[in-house]
This record gives sequence, C-alpha cells and structure tokens, in this order.
Amino acid sequence: MNEFDLIGLLTPNLATNKSVVVGAGDDCAVLDVGIPGQWLLFKTDALVAGIHFTEVAPPEKIGHKALARCLSDIAAMAGTPLSALVTLALPRDFQAEYVQAMYRGIKALAARFEVGIAGGETTTNPDRVLISIAALGTVEQGKCPLRSGAEAGDAIFVTGELGGSLHGKHLEFLPRLAEARWLVDHFTVHAMIDLSDGLAGDLRHILNASHVGAELFSKSMPVSRAAKLAARRESSAKPPVRAALTDGEDFELLFTVPSREAVNLLDEWKKQFPDLRLTCIGKISSQPGLTIRDETGVKPLTADGYVHFQKS
Ligand SMILES: [Mg+2]
Repeated sequence: MNEFDLIGLLTPNLATNKSVVVGAGDDCAVLDVGIPGQWLLFKTDALVAGIHFTEVAPPEKIGHKALARCLSDIAAMAGTPLSALVTLALPRDFQAEYVQAMYRGIKALAARFEVGIAGGETTTNPDRVLISIAALGTVEQGKCPLRSGAEAGDAIFVTGELGGSLHGKHLEFLPRLAEARWLVDHFTVHAMIDLSDGLAGDLRHILNASHVGAELFSKSMPVSRAAKLAARRESSAKPPVRAALTDGEDFELLFTVPSREAVNLLDEWKKQFPDLRLTCIGKISSQPGLTIRDETGVKPLTADGYVHFQKS
C-alpha cells in the first residue's frame, strides 16, 4: 500500500467542527478561529533519518529542511508563516552537538522569515532521528488558492527549475513565500501546490481535486542543471525531462491562472523576480487525464511522481 492509499483509508469521516474551513487534502489545513478577515493555516510535517536525509547530511541543513518544508506548504496557500513547534525523537545515544546544530538550521531560517519557534517536545526513538515541525500561518480570508480551483483553459506555471534535487537542493531550498503572496495579489491564481513528490504526481493532485485534465509541453520543461549533469554523468540516470517530471523535493510552486493573464504574468514576474525562472509548462483541459506533448505527438503521461511507501 502506498502513502496516498493509506491517507484515503484514514481521512474519511474525520472529526470536525466549525473552525475547519479546509481539512485534510490540501497543502495546509485552513481554520477560521474568529480573527476578522483572516484565516489560520495549520501544517505538520516530519523528516525521518534514512528516508528524508542521510547520515552524512549536515545537521544544520536537516533543521533548515524540516522547517522549510512546512513553510513551503504555507507558501502554497499564499500565506504568511507565524510560529512553529518542533518535535524531536532521538535515539538514546544522541549527541547534543548534532541536535544543537539542527536547531541552528531551524533558527536561522525562522529568523529569515520572522517565524517564532514557540516551543516543542523531545522524546526517544530507538534507532533513528525523527524531526517533526508543526507551523501556523495566516492568510487573508478567501485569498487562499486551493488545489480544487483549476479551470479548463488555465495556463499551468512552475517556478524555478525541476529535477535532480537530491544532488543538493533538497537540503538548501528556500520556500517561495514572497513569490506566492505577490502572485495572488496581482493575478487570478485558480489553484496552487508546492512540488514535494514530483511534478507528474503533484499536478495530479490539482487535476483530481479540480476534476479537470492537463496537457504538458515537453520542450518547455525547465530542467535543472543538476538533472542534466546527472544524465550526462551516469548512463543509468533518468533522461532530464523525465527527472524534471518525476523527481521529488523540488519545493517550487505549481499553479494555474486564466490563459488571458499568462503573457502579462511572465512580463511582470521578470521585473519582480529577475533571478527566479517562471515557465508556462502546459494547459488545463476539461478532458480528464494527464498528457504530454513532444516532437512525436501527444501521449498519456504515465511517469508517476515519487511515492514514499513501496507498493506491496
Ligand atoms: Mg505541499
């Protein structure tokens, strides 16, 4: 059973109350706690040694990544992060220096985005380190793009470059918070998600939630240098476009806007964020399914995003 099948078993009929505006199934939960004009965003995320980072990963970067993943989900809702709680589960023989270094990474990123670290919890885990962060953010009521808002005819955009993140970027990325807020302030963002499992898989979340399909343009794919170099270096590596479509942990924003806004968006983006690429990679269609257009025509995109659990 994979991660998404398990979530499908666990999430029906969850307890709820009148605070829950959007529950499980988007990048963050959205809560109405009675703040006039504002919603709260609520997110939790965990990193496990051996799965999300290796023993040789510098602990500062592990701490950075743990918080950055939460903030990336708040960015996907066009929110502003507020504060976070840190839970650590450590083997009995943990080294204080290692844990302090993880905290340095958390603190530095928190300071950069003015996030309060409001407390946490430490506990024991027999054989490996686990770090889990829960974060709160705010967003103006009704200004929060969900996965379910994509419409036929929308242009699909992605920030940055994709693929090959495991060669380094996954430990160093910065959440696209300012970019996301600027987007919703200036354009009609119908749907948005951050890329954690790979473009082909994450786009499917938007398509399923919005009951639409999409066609991607192979030649437009913004393939990262890391993915191109890997393909050149190792004959067993994925072809670069396939890496861009299926590698996980890019933490870029994937979003849709009405196609009439596409040209203006590209122009304004270049002025606002000259150092970050923005690419139109496809279009939303009313026909369900995900296809890709390349030199040889249009074909179904079967390449799946990275799935955390093995199928059994
Ligand atoms: Mg996400």
